[in-house]
Amino acid sequence: MRITALNISAVNIPTLKSYHIAVMGTITSTQSIILEIYTDEGLIGVGETDPALMFTGESQHTVMTMLRHHLGPAVLGMDPLAIEAIHKRMDAVCVGNPFAKAAVDLACHDLLGKALGVPVYQLLGGLVRERIPIMWSLGSEPPDVNAREAAAKAEEGYGTIGLKLGILPPEQDIARVAAVRNEVGTDVHIRCDANQGWTVGTAINTIKQLEEYNVAMIEQPVPRHDLDGMAEIVRSVNIPVGVDESLSSTQDALRIIKKRAADFYSIKTTKQGGLLNAKKIAALVDASGGKMFINSMIEMGVSVMSGLHFAASTPGLFEIGHALTSVRRLKDDILKEPVLYDGAEIIVPQDRVGLGAELDEKKMSKYKVGDYWLKID
Ligand SMILES: [Mg+2]
Repeated sequence: MRITALNISAVNIPTLKSYHIAVMGTITSTQSIILEIYTDEGLIGVGETDPALMFTGESQHTVMTMLRHHLGPAVLGMDPLAIEAIHKRMDAVCVGNPFAKAAVDLACHDLLGKALGVPVYQLLGGLVRERIPIMWSLGSEPPDVNAREAAAKAEEGYGTIGLKLGILPPEQDIARVAAVRNEVGTDVHIRCDANQGWTVGTAINTIKQLEEYNVAMIEQPVPRHDLDGMAEIVRSVNIPVGVDESLSSTQDALRIIKKRAADFYSIKTTKQGGLLNAKKIAALVDASGGKMFINSMIEMGVSVMSGLHFAASTPGLFEIGHALTSVRRLKDDILKEPVLYDGAEIIVPQDRVGLGAELDEKKMSKYKVGDYWLKID
């Protein structure tokens, strides 16, 4: 099989409500890229990526540029089923840019599944779970607003509530967590994500005060480069502390493990540079005795399905609701057949081949803000 053309589309779908996050600001829509890989055998592979400047320095614009001028021309004509070779070629073209490379990786896995007539999880080790509990995430809003939303979501069956911390002063963040705990009772997990918003001292002090509210995990308290600071926090507090922005490549994973800088590892198949690298990171984390949390960007259905195939085929997940929720936060999605949920669980569709994420062309034209074709002459 040969890659004959790429269609790279920028796609923005509004969120249901704006979402305030430390360091990243306010998010009001996806800023995604959809990549369709065309082949000489008529099969089309679909990938998606959802970059964020404060994660890997990539944006919708940089991903469009990298795919159009560098990565796309490099993989045109290659066999899309030779996924290791595709990555080797992309890594020879440029360092970094994991979100751009992930779009290609996801589309190639989709093609491999379609070529073999199997769901992508079969290519990643097979099924270890058929459904996964999901979480609901709250942005930085006043305690009573967060508590009301948490109560409504717990009522809907969500067993895990996430709070974004790190923008407001620590005492206000602590009041928000206290209000949510008070409202949802003791049976619901609370997880917090500070998105690099604290110093090491503030993190240790604040996390210690959060211990009485039985918080299940705290993500990325300090800036992504500060692994020594992360290790100090891990040693100093009694709540599991984990990495998200700090963890993109396999080399990042190795450094974090060596420094004992995390109790858990947030995996987003796009941030990790695709499914192949995500599975390599999973092997390192598993060998180190760490646990993984399945996380997400503000993303559409193709990326959610990619995260779902990873989660479906990977042991060693943290026992909590995972963040495979993104499409529920959007006004719409681009999939022909939607992501499948049953209350507060996401279901692995075992009867769809590839990623199981075919595009609805009408919705693609509605939300597409630009696209570019790359073809073999
Ligand atoms: Mg995070």
